[in-house]
Amino acid sequence: MPRLSLLSRFALVSLVLVVGLGAVMAQQLASMISQRALRSATDAAVLTTTIAVQPLLTSQDLAEAIPEAKVAALDRAVAGSRDGTEIARIKIWRLDGELIYVADPHTQAPPRESSPEPSHELAEALEGHIEAELVFESDEPGNAALLDRYGSLLEVYVPIRYAGVEKPVGAFELYLPYQPVRNSIRADTLRAVGLLVLGLLILWAGLFSTVAGASRRLRSESRRNEHQALHDALTGLPNRELLSQDIERAVRAAEPDGSTVALVVLDLDRFREVNDTLGHRHGDLLIAEMGERLRAEVGVHGTVARLGGDEFAVLLTGVADARSAVAATERLRDALRLPLEIGDVALAVEASAGISLHPADAGDASSMLQHADVALYVAKRTHQGISVYDAAQDEHTPQRLRLLGELARGIDDGELVMHYQPQLDLSGSVRGVEALVRWQHPERGLLPPAEFIPVAERTGLIHPLTDVVLGMAVAQSKRWHDAGTPTPVAVNISTRSLLHAGFADRVLDLLAVWAMPAGLLTLEITETTIMEDPDRALAVLSRLAAAGVRLSIDDFGTGYSSLAYLKSLPVHELKIDRSFVAALTSSERDRVIVDSTVALGRRLGLDVVAEGVEDEATLLALGALGCTLAQGFYFSRPVPAGALRAGVDLPSTAAVRSTAQPTG
Ligand code: C2E
Ligand code: MG
Ligand code: MG
Repeated sequence: MPRLSLLSRFALVSLVLVVGLGAVMAQQLASMISQRALRSATDAAVLTTTIAVQPLLTSQDLAEAIPEAKVAALDRAVAGSRDGTEIARIKIWRLDGELIYVADPHTQAPPRESSPEPSHELAEALEGHIEAELVFESDEPGNAALLDRYGSLLEVYVPIRYAGVEKPVGAFELYLPYQPVRNSIRADTLRAVGLLVLGLLILWAGLFSTVAGASRRLRSESRRNEHQALHDALTGLPNRELLSQDIERAVRAAEPDGSTVALVVLDLDRFREVNDTLGHRHGDLLIAEMGERLRAEVGVHGTVARLGGDEFAVLLTGVADARSAVAATERLRDALRLPLEIGDVALAVEASAGISLHPADAGDASSMLQHADVALYVAKRTHQGISVYDAAQDEHTPQRLRLLGELARGIDDGELVMHYQPQLDLSGSVRGVEALVRWQHPERGLLPPAEFIPVAERTGLIHPLTDVVLGMAVAQSKRWHDAGTPTPVAVNISTRSLLHAGFADRVLDLLAVWAMPAGLLTLEITETTIMEDPDRALAVLSRLAAAGVRLSIDDFGTGYSSLAYLKSLPVHELKIDRSFVAALTSSERDRVIVDSTVALGRRLGLDVVAEGVEDEATLLALGALGCTLAQGFYFSRPVPAGALRAGVDLPSTAAVRSTAQPTG
């Protein structure tokens, strides 16, 4: 059943009520009219007989018999009745029930009834009551002829009284044609009901138009409210809520054929500066203009929404793949970049954009929005301009967020544990250890750093983690030192930790607190760390090196360090990345890389450590290339401090030594 509007429902219900009311009122009216008409017809007949007929008779006449002379006068008087009070037949009854006079003035006189039975109504009339009834059919032959002529009759019994006599002395039985009464009833009823219907119709129409007007106002009000709830007031563009609905719709529409839907979130760069320097009014103008440009650029191929502040979103449908989404986003940024003048200042607005794609990386509106936000954040942070969502960069997935919470607690609860992996020289003796952190997770067991370091690095959590790791490593080194086996410890330092304010101070304080020679601590830093902000890295590392801390470049060969920096940095050691070491015996290219790294180290006066030595053949090949320090599963996996052995018996140490070149 189709849903009726409120107004139609009101119209229907009120119409039913008004019609019902009209029907009841019309019925009442009609019955009142007909009763009144009957009564007035009866009254008229009574009046006629009492005025025109009764005076012709005396009580004597009625008691005995009507003289012939009077009968003729009676006939004339009765024949004189006209129109509304026309009498079709009159009978006069004596008190004892004897019929003493009958006249049918307007028809041929029917044969006199042979033995008319006094009726119940007659008895009532002889008692003194006026009785009336309608007659539509009759067995009496006299009446039947009248009915043929008049259709229906009003039969009235009237008591005949004389002054001074208490009881009636007889009764008239009058027959009046009912048709004129009926006609007047019908005419009156029609007029009255017509007026009633007209009045009710006017009433209903008035009600309807009042309610229709009110409902129209309500509808337009609610449309305005709905528009306000779903649109941005400044630009008139859809807001986040409406955009979400549009995304859901677009995703549903794209699902059957698996086509791609792209959501681009754009954020104007340095908008705050415009707002601060030119004022909010100009800031608003700028936002409105940018919204307009996006809308013009997108046209019918998508939806532009304002998410708030200087953030817009563009939903693109019919996108082939990530590349075409990026191309479309380039065009959006070009449109925003076109010069514009605001408050006499010429501006060119740059925007960063994050893109998420359905179905590639999000299934619904909220994850598309969230992923595009993550991509936007990456685009801003890396100054790429545009970034397409990559789950690997996303620290916002629920699992990661949970992990972060657990890690924060884990660090406080002392769940981080250190394992140590020895670094050996070619004689098989331990020259130092690398401290590698693990997380003793209460449910998931011992977790390797890959599971939690990247997450910690993306948040401030890396700072307490680095502090805890450094503290444990230095404390352990101190124990070895005090036990008479001083062992240098290498600790991995993330970029954010190294560049974090006060890092050098904290390291130096730690050494001072434990009264540890700085030379027993090595910090392992990757090339990327240095290249991210070479000047700051140089400043921090120089301070630490000046205090005697050793510095090692980890995973060497995988980054893009420039030799110029390498030369200017206070570095003591290069660690050849294990990817080159692993393929040393099988790949000529990797052999060349290891060879040149060893040569470079020697030239610059640096120790060179080969990471990831897993077998004897690799060890021998390293020896042949002149690499004198190695670390790897072949010697030992990272183990708790207590499980470390002082040295390793190398079965082929002699062979290695024989091919080794002297180190510088
Ligand atoms: P990394 O500094 O390059 O550490 C060497 C990694 O190689 C360690 O993995 C070690 O177990 C592994 N390894 C050593 N020898 C071999 C071998 O022969 N074969 C193979 N396949 N692997 C070998 P781990 O302990 O899982 O650590 C991974 C990375 O996590 C480290 O790489 C380091 O970048 C980071 N990391 C570890 N501990 C810390 C820490 O305390 N702080 C920070 N910031 N990063 C850490
Ligand atoms: Mg390392
Ligand atoms: Mg490494």
